[in-house]
Amino acid sequence: MSAPRDRTYTRLLHAGAPPFVDGVAPVNVPLVRASTLRFERDATRAELHHRREAGEPVATYGRHGSATHRALEAALGELEVAQHLLLAPSGLAAISLTFIALLSPGDHVLVQDSVYGPVRERVEPLLSRLGVSFSYISAGAGLPADKVRPNTRLIYVESPSSFLYEVIDLPALAAFARAHGALLAADNTWGAGLLYRPLELGADISIQAITKYVGGHSDLMQGAVAVRNNAIARRLAETHDSLGLFVSPDDAWLALRGLRTLAVRLAQHQRHALEVAHYLADARDVVERVFYPALPGDPGHTLWKRDFHGANGLVSFSLRGARQTDAVAFVDALRLFGIGASWGGFESLALIAPASRLAVHSYAHGDAPVVRLHIGLEDPRDLIEDLAQAFRRIAG
Ligand SMILES: *Cc1c(COP(=O)(O)O)cnc(C)c1O
Repeated sequence: MSAPRDRTYTRLLHAGAPPFVDGVAPVNVPLVRASTLRFERDATRAELHHRREAGEPVATYGRHGSATHRALEAALGELEVAQHLLLAPSGLAAISLTFIALLSPGDHVLVQDSVYGPVRERVEPLLSRLGVSFSYISAGAGLPADKVRPNTRLIYVESPSSFLYEVIDLPALAAFARAHGALLAADNTWGAGLLYRPLELGADISIQAITKYVGGHSDLMQGAVAVRNNAIARRLAETHDSLGLFVSPDDAWLALRGLRTLAVRLAQHQRHALEVAHYLADARDVVERVFYPALPGDPGHTLWKRDFHGANGLVSFSLRGARQTDAVAFVDALRLFGIGASWGGFESLALIAPASRLAVHSYAHGDAPVVRLHIGLEDPRDLIEDLAQAFRRIAG
């Protein structure tokens, strides 16, 4: 994992630091809880209200957040190289906010078919009810010239994608979206802002589940939407306000704490995941295929090298000649890996990719069951021993 050239690591540690008061300040931003805000004079209240109406992120009420939120927004903004940052109660809320804010009845949206499952299962039914139509595209297979329509307002992608890590050519898709008058939004949860910068590569909107690597400790739910363009930001902010979306300052404070160690954690996740990926690639008697873009030979490797600053702890593999029951026996036999879905914490996890999710991914191949591993910060020798004993159990 190579540090980005523009020294994001440094800016990430100092963004949002609290100012000196009487010559002294804590390193970390104070946790400010408030519903009511008191104003010294009515004129101050009126002025702040006016500035808020004009689009400035100032608070006149608790729902608008506190200094704790502003510090997190500043630090996440550094990471995503964004001018505007909105916090949401979960990653899925950040995705829904984007769709609701930017689409109107009669609009059409193109969605990569290998995105996070709930986009298809939850967001599509909601938006369809509001008169928006959806088409799914194989975004890794080229530009969707045959799918775009005059009313296509948004293209929504995720690179690398859920479960199999399909990497797409985001700059090419951004140029395509622009040429067709559509906005491009990218789910940046895999890259956590540090490994990937969709806004710099031409996307209009970058969305993250803070729940995953920024939180980093499996105890936080949160999402963020990052944008550069003022008009798009305004539209998102108005919808954010209308929906009354709010993140607890305690959770904003935890996200900021996670952010400060994101770079060192990700470097170790990547190092250990690469070791495990090589072990799996060599275990040809039991493993059919390994999915990890940092592995030479992965179909996304070249694009990953061009556009990314590193890889994370997610490694998937398919089990050779196995049925679903073998995959169940395999994950049940693991001792160190927990069985669980929400990756990005310090611990290792295993999950069988649901067949219903893979069935709609054009990037999926064959019927072999797929196991997704999240490689945590444990000693990789222990993780490999655990995998080896679980392979022996299902072979014997
Ligand atoms: C987990 C995840 C989400 C949703 O985040 P939540 O905070 O769990 O709602 C969205 N996109 C991707 C790629 C994810 O992995």
